[in-house]
Amino acid sequence: MNISKSEELFSRAQQSLPGGVNSPVRAFKSVGGNPIFLQKAKGAYLYDVDGNQYIDYINSWGPMIMGHAFEPVVEAIQKKAMDSTSFGAPTELEIETAELIKSMVPNVDLIRMVSSGTEACMSALRLARGYTGRNKFIKFEGCYHGHADSFLVKAGSGVATFNIQTVPGVTAGVSADTLTAPYNDLEAVKKLVAENKDEIAAIIIEPVAGNMGCILPQEGFLEGLRKLCDLEGIVFIFDEVMTGFRLAQGGAQERLKIDADLVTYGKVIGAGMPVGAFGGKFEIMKHIAPLGNVYQAGTLSGNPLAMIAGYTLLSHLKSNPFIYAELEQKGEYLKNGLQKVLEESGQPFVINHMGSMISVHFSDKPVVDFATAASANNTFFNKYFHGMLDRGIYLPPSAYESWFLSHALSKEDLDRTIEATKKNVTSGQ
Ligand code: PLP
Repeated sequence: MNISKSEELFSRAQQSLPGGVNSPVRAFKSVGGNPIFLQKAKGAYLYDVDGNQYIDYINSWGPMIMGHAFEPVVEAIQKKAMDSTSFGAPTELEIETAELIKSMVPNVDLIRMVSSGTEACMSALRLARGYTGRNKFIKFEGCYHGHADSFLVKAGSGVATFNIQTVPGVTAGVSADTLTAPYNDLEAVKKLVAENKDEIAAIIIEPVAGNMGCILPQEGFLEGLRKLCDLEGIVFIFDEVMTGFRLAQGGAQERLKIDADLVTYGKVIGAGMPVGAFGGKFEIMKHIAPLGNVYQAGTLSGNPLAMIAGYTLLSHLKSNPFIYAELEQKGEYLKNGLQKVLEESGQPFVINHMGSMISVHFSDKPVVDFATAASANNTFFNKYFHGMLDRGIYLPPSAYESWFLSHALSKEDLDRTIEATKKNVTSGQ
């Protein structure tokens, strides 16, 4: 495969951008090799600057649930742009978007729009602290809630990919308020809560984790956390930046039938535009400024182009619920196909999967938390990644990331992916 233009651009990029990129995992540093520079994308396919085509399983890390350049969204943005790209003042579209979201997801009385998932999680945590008057919070090893200081302790995603143990620049004082427990370990959380009685403001979790590969909550885990939060006056925050509007219209709350006190959104909510949001019950949300004193703000929050993109995509998802059933079928089909060829190969593997989130771990034991994800044969994953890329399949360049399926994927695309995996693992590339 000719990637000479991508190589040229990567050399040039490194002269102006740190590591040649604007977000670390894009640099392919952990898998090695040269990142592919993209030109355009349509539906399930990406096209790089050298004219190569790839089937996309990253989908901008989640937002492109209908595939790329989804026409209703593109047209709506184009039309809206004619009325100005930003006001920094209230618009009716913000109300319509909030009303639409409230009609799709449970437990959201009020919602605040922001511009990224990081902002959503950071603000939800501040709100939980302001509401409870407590400072500490619990997060799970290998979960990623954006790059705000408090969350960069035992974080997943790029932090895990690059094996960064302590992030320079995050003060020991901030980190001291971040308590961590292994995912799926309810007893560890109970112990932390007992040791820090009346000091824990929030427990924040990815209800289905996607930042250490895809990891599912075991039976009773989220239910146990919910009970513990009720008992101890702790705010239970679901970080649905990945799972929101993806695992179901109402996200993981709907799919797993667990209620959160606060929920954060990103990715699908903005259809590829910079949008995040946090919301929850009135009782807690009433403390956000200007209703209350927990300050949070943003020049571009509720930006009209971002809102129209999200509104258009979410309306489409709401009025076509069959999309979720079809995403489910695609996920199941891919999982079954990969399972068959990997079984035949004799290579130890685990596939974790829910709906349109999936990950393959080259491990001989169940992958249920960060430790088991980290003990998989990630060197083999890196070879697998490159073998797939050479065959025109664009997977996340890290074993610590979930794959995201889009509705644009056809049966032929899924078959090509399964076939590429077969060739890749059989030839031992
Ligand atoms: N929360 C989760 C679960 C995420 O996966 C991410 C990003 O991948 C974030 C928060 C941060 O979102 P953003 O990158 O939009 O700041």
